[in-house]
Amino acid sequence: MNTKIVCPVCDRAAIEVDTCPNCQTDLSLIRMLSELPLIVSTTPDFSWLKWSIGILLTAILVGWEIWVH
Ligand SMILES: [Zn+2]
Repeated sequence: MNTKIVCPVCDRAAIEVDTCPNCQTDLSLIRMLSELPLIVSTTPDFSWLKWSIGILLTAILVGWEIWVH
């Protein structure tokens, strides 16, 4: 299952092989790079951010309660 990439040299689209069929440019490195963000984007880790916001909001609410009462 190969990702379809665009040749950066001649702009040929939907290339599924490691060499551009139009200008014979080696696309293995470009393919590797193009597939990297895909792996990262499938596993977004924002749980730490949610936790941070949650803890921060709780701290503000608790602090407010103590301040008011
Ligand atoms: Zn090309």
